Amino acid sequence: MNGKHEKIKCILKIAGFCAAGVGVVAEAVGLILMAIDPLNVPLGLLLFLTSGGFILIFGGIGVLGIAFRRESVKYERDELAPLQETQSEPCPHCGELNAAGSLFCGLCGENLQTVCPHCGAPVVRGRKFCSRCGTKLF
Ligand SMILES: [Zn+2]
Ligand SMILES: [Zn+2]
Repeated sequence: MNGKHEKIKCILKIAGFCAAGVGVVAEAVGLILMAIDPLNVPLGLLLFLTSGGFILIFGGIGVLGIAFRRESVKYERDELAPLQETQSEPCPHCGELNAAGSLFCGLCGENLQTVCPHCGAPVVRGRKFCSRCGTKLF
């Protein structure tokens, strides 16, 4: 499912770039023709190139916006997920998740802080290693 999602996103990006690119070329050709030889170029062709190019440019940008919005949402989710994980510590007594660095459990009042047996640095209970000297704690 994830692979399919990536594929759709990839197609949207390519389609967006192509549409915008073709639109820019059509718009440029239309404007150049209008500038160099306005009398000998059929008006229909000029309108087709300029208005068609205009629609393609904005359509392409719109598609790119959708493709990259998906990407940015995913990026934000991936960035925030590990942060939320490290920000909570389960209470050894009741299992309640408390913010990292909490001294007491917010639910049962258990003292969450202890000291490292090696260096005496205060460490939050539930941590496996001392953050100062690296000693394995439990
Ligand atoms: Zn607790
Ligand atoms: Zn230590």
